[in-house]
Amino acid sequence: KKERKRLPRWLQTQIPKGKNYSKLKDDLRSLNLSTVCEEARCPNIGECWGGGDTDTATATIMLMGDECTRGCRFCSVKTSKNPGPLDPMEPYNTAKAVGSWGVDYIVLTSVDRDDLSDGGAAHLAECVRQLKIQVPSLLVEVLSPDFRGDLNAVENLASSGLDVFAHNLETVNRLQAFVRDPRANYKQSMDVLIKAKESSPGLLTKTSLMLGLGETDNEIIETMEDLRANSVDVVTFGQYMQPTKRHLKVKEYVTPEKFKQWEELGENMGFAYVASGPLVRSSYKAGEYYIKNIIE
Ligand code: SF4
Ligand code: SF4
Repeated sequence: KKERKRLPRWLQTQIPKGKNYSKLKDDLRSLNLSTVCEEARCPNIGECWGGGDTDTATATIMLMGDECTRGCRFCSVKTSKNPGPLDPMEPYNTAKAVGSWGVDYIVLTSVDRDDLSDGGAAHLAECVRQLKIQVPSLLVEVLSPDFRGDLNAVENLASSGLDVFAHNLETVNRLQAFVRDPRANYKQSMDVLIKAKESSPGLLTKTSLMLGLGETDNEIIETMEDLRANSVDVVTFGQYMQPTKRHLKVKEYVTPEKFKQWEELGENMGFAYVASGPLVRSSYKAGEYYIKNIIE
């Protein structure tokens, strides 16, 4: 409660919950699936699940369990050296649940599974294939792990039929080791995005950056230039929020005006789409934006 008081006014939001929200929630329980929207207590859940202006509902499903083999300093997902085995029914169950919701756009994400030989790439690819079989009209975005730079794993996932391959740089080059797990880095993540595009040129590549971690304007611009040079289509910027006291502190609350400037710069630089705002998250109303701006 105290923490909340100190937040700038533009970060204090209400969470509206419509009937779509309750339906999704019940289905998730009965099928043993979890969403990032709920796990991360995402403030946009009402808007995303409800569908917003265009009625294009977006939800983010978390696959391969809720325990990650990594421990990034900004992330509140549980860490484990030996997470449980993959659920072989997960691809089928996920597709079945999503089909029953009538959402138009689904974001699949996962914990990192460094314990698996392919990092879970084949499993994620199977989830995409099942979704496309059971719900052919659905647009599928995968927020992918880096697979420790295993480009065969990237290719396997990128050629599974997905529409958007997202992988997050999270922050600028200089702050990588400070913010992310030591197994992640800037070049490796950029190589993942490059490989995804090469493997399946028709898909969109996308990345997200958290602001407010101490990055400079020039570092942000350099990152955007690198992304464009590597044909990354979509970039999003959001405010980093400290999930608990044990996580990295917020260095700065970036103003909405400043976020707007990044959006304008990104558009001028030729990104197909830029989402930038204090509450923007990687998947924020992704479906609504894609359908409005890119795919149609
Ligand atoms: Fe969180 Fe992803 Fe880092 Fe795992 S790899 S700790 S899920 S940000
Ligand atoms: Fe879910 Fe992403 Fe929307 Fe948050 S921004 S509610 S995590 S889809």
